[in-house]
Order: sequence, then C-alpha cells, then structure tokens
Amino acid sequence: MRIAGQVSIDDIPKICPLLSRAANPQYGEKGTRVVNVAGVRFGGERPVVIGGPCAVESHAQTVGLARAVKRSGADMLRGGAYKPRTSPHDFQGSGLEGLCILSVAREETGLPIVTEVMDPRMVGEVAQVADMLQVGSRNMHNYSLLAEVGRAGKPILLKRGMSASLCEWLGAAEYIAKQGNLDIVLCERGIRGFPSGEYSRYVLDLNVIPAAKMLTFLPVVVDPSHATGVSAMVEPASRAALEMGSHGLLIEVADLTFGDPKCDGLQAIDAATLARIVLFAHEKRGVRSQEPGVRSTEETQPSSALNATLALSS
Ligand code: PEP
Ligand code: MN
Repeated sequence: MRIAGQVSIDDIPKICPLLSRAANPQYGEKGTRVVNVAGVRFGGERPVVIGGPCAVESHAQTVGLARAVKRSGADMLRGGAYKPRTSPHDFQGSGLEGLCILSVAREETGLPIVTEVMDPRMVGEVAQVADMLQVGSRNMHNYSLLAEVGRAGKPILLKRGMSASLCEWLGAAEYIAKQGNLDIVLCERGIRGFPSGEYSRYVLDLNVIPAAKMLTFLPVVVDPSHATGVSAMVEPASRAALEMGSHGLLIEVADLTFGDPKCDGLQAIDAATLARIVLFAHEKRGVRSQEPGVRSTEETQPSSALNATLALSS
C-alpha cells in the first residue's frame, strides 16, 4: 500500500538532488563537504567543538564565558541572542544588544560565533554579526526561514527537529541548498521518544550520525546538552557521539559566578569539563580521518534501503 506523503530514505536522491550522496557521486561513499566557518573546518581533519552559554544574558557573562571557552581549547563560541522559549513570559533573549555582546566576545577571543535566528525578517541583522547562523529544532520545518537563511551568504547550523525523521531533516537542508548555499552543518540534538522527560530531556539519536553520513556528504555534529538535559551526561554523551562519527559538538557552558543561567542551567557544564571534552575530541583526530562510523555500518550489513543507496552512490 502506498500512502500519500510517505517518504523513505530510498527517496532521498529525489528529495535531495543537491545534497544526497547518491545524486552527487563526486563525493564517493565517504567524502565530506568541508564547511569553513571563519577558518574553522567542519568535516575537516578533526572534530570541531563549540562551547558557550545557552543565552547571551550580559556583557560580563558572555565575554567571561567566551574567554573560558577559548582557554578550554574549543574552536567556536555559541550563544543565543534570540531564544525560542516554551513560555512567552520567560526570558526571550537579549536581542540586538545580545548580538553586540557576541561581536565583542569575538573581538576579545577571536572565536567565530554561531547564534540562532528565529525570524525570516531578522536574518539580515543576525547575519551581520554571526559567522554561522543556527536554525533551531523548533524552526527546522519553517520553510520560509530556511529559504531566507539560504540567501544570507553565511554557513548554516541546521538542528534536527525534535520529532523529525532523517528524511524531513535532509529535506529541510535541501531548502537551504536550493538557494545556492551548500555550507550546511547538520546538528542532531535529541528527539522525542517514550523515555523523554523521565531521566533525560530527549533521546540522543546516535544512530542517525552514520545513517546521515551515508545519505549526504554534509558534516554532522551533535548537541549533547539539549539531547540529555543533564549536565552529568554531557561529557559521556560527547564521547559517544564522537565514537559514532560526529564531526563535532555543540555544548552549553555556564559559570555560576555570573549568577544562575536564565535558561537551561541544569544541562550546562563548567569550563574544566569542556576542556576535557576538547582534549578527547582533538586527540581523536587520527581516528576521525578513518571515518569509523561509516566503516562500521558497512561492515555490519546495512539495511536494504541503505544498501540500495550505497549501490546508487558507487
Ligand atoms: C539552543 O541551541 O540554544 C537551542 C534552543 O537548541 P534547540 O533548537 O536544539 O532546542
Ligand atoms: Mn539551551
């Protein structure tokens, strides 16, 4: 029986002619498109680590954390000036002032910045400051935002929708690519599953890393902070993600001397923990270049659908 609107990963070459591995044989079975963000190379020789606060709250907090992130050896700074909150009565971010603070933090540390844009009307303004634009989980299905960021001339970090299939996630990336921007990094950030909220915030879908890498040549990174929602889980989840072939990590960091974070404090790690994660990520450089995730999936009999896709790409 065929059902309207139903797609499977066998349809990816048709849904994503610009981004699927099968439709772009120049990337071969394992090649990755390197996405360069102000000199930081996603999909390059070593995993990229991005650290920083959930939200830009103040000059002291963000610049202080940026310095700590720099000292930890991480490659980039994160921080939301615009925050998608469950309640409209909660802190919504510091907006334009937050963007100015981010640009000061970059001047102080030299770290490139990734920050979220939520509104198609704000893309120009956010792109003036950001080195990389983040499309959040809640906006992965916002097709007018995807088209607008595709025209912004900046690399995009595309989070997976919390209930999105791999096909929907890749389809969202294709909307960006259709505007002529192929500088896209996919970010797995946890999905809704039956244990969500019982012992972790979401379910970290590690399996999607090698699966996505088989279907597209785009780099794939993992956000262990939102995926777990528990600071003690962030370090082991980071290592697990790297073992599964992640090209990088996006991690929330806090320092309580700047006060309790206004959002997501329970999942934030301190700078010392970030430094250990960075060491692990950067030391795995030699292993990364052998692409263990892809190799092990091939060795363990991929599903017929994945097999068919591999056959198409060879
Ligand atoms: C974030 O990274 O700050 C964020 C809001 O993440 P997500 O869109 O994955 O919930
Ligand atoms: Mn957050």
